[in-house]
Amino acid sequence: MTTKVDLYSLLPHELEDYFLSIGEPKFRAKQVFVRLHKGERIADITNLSKALRERLVAETLDTLPNVEEKHVSKIDGMVKYLFRLYDGACIESVFMRYKHGNTLCISSQVGCRMGCKFCASTIGGRVRDLLPSELLGQVIAAERDSGERISNIVMMGIGEPLDNYDNVIKFLQLVNHPDGLNIGYRHISLSTCGVVDGINKLAEENLPITLSISLHAANDTRRSEIMPINNKWGVSDLLSACLSYYKKTGRRISFEYTLISGKNDSEADATELANVLLGAFRSSGAPIHVNLIRVNEVKETGFKKGTVESVNAFAKTLERRGITATVRRRLGSDVNAACGQLRRSNLLNKEEN
Ligand code: SAH
Repeated sequence: MTTKVDLYSLLPHELEDYFLSIGEPKFRAKQVFVRLHKGERIADITNLSKALRERLVAETLDTLPNVEEKHVSKIDGMVKYLFRLYDGACIESVFMRYKHGNTLCISSQVGCRMGCKFCASTIGGRVRDLLPSELLGQVIAAERDSGERISNIVMMGIGEPLDNYDNVIKFLQLVNHPDGLNIGYRHISLSTCGVVDGINKLAEENLPITLSISLHAANDTRRSEIMPINNKWGVSDLLSACLSYYKKTGRRISFEYTLISGKNDSEADATELANVLLGAFRSSGAPIHVNLIRVNEVKETGFKKGTVESVNAFAKTLERRGITATVRRRLGSDVNAACGQLRRSNLLNKEEN
């Protein structure tokens, strides 16, 4: 069996090599790159001859995700997509309209092996990594479905982006390409649970993307209880990698802190978080920001969210210490918006039938 070529994962110069290898002129590369990234499938590119289109359809992989389910929030208009991939696996993406532009939250893996205790994406483990084309394909497919341009990307969906490092880097090059979607690196955020060797490698790429760290606890005992990655790299390893990232890229570091009732949401937890962050960053002057979100309750985990008052009090404690904090709006709370919940309910329905 010959392996099929994954056209959407190729940059224009790689597409040129491909077309030359099948006896086609080089200029096909740009022609096809532009049209595919606009959301057309090979079969739709009618300025290619019918014979060439048929050959490409037969010899290449159609990795553009298909909309399997689409849920529009009645509360805030957020759209949650369940996409089916070429091999039948499913992932989620979330489309949000903000004043500063449309944002798509994308998945990086089918499932996840990081084991965070509060997260629905990791319950069944990791099935496979997404291809660069499938990372990109979520953006193309969401633009195609919505008819709107996406100007910002956050990698906060299913999976750990730094556990799929090479494909994520390739995706960044593809999505940033001027002949394609041309989304600026400054409009892209990558969120990690704290894969320190990946953060160090990413710093070396020197791309001005925003790094977002899922911290969720300020001391090792508490963090290791809810995030197994912390047994490999503790809080101080993680924060020093963040500092190096800032020194290399000059980009502000953003911290995600999910508040779980009775676990990490007390006044003392807020004070400790402030002290730890100030201790790590104050002398360097690195700008940092904390995003607070109340945990989305996932049936299997048993974690409960606290009150709105408790999250506001937590934010105030950080701000009194000079740390900027925002309480994140819970978008799409009526459509299973928490990471991995839609994919999980789809899998469970299949098992029941
Ligand atoms: N693996 C990456 C990106 C995916 S998760 C990471 O860990 O950052 C995106 C964010 O959602 C992370 O901050 C994650 O900790 C958080 N998250 C996961 N499950 C959640 C839940 N049930 N409630 C609130 N936040 C959750």
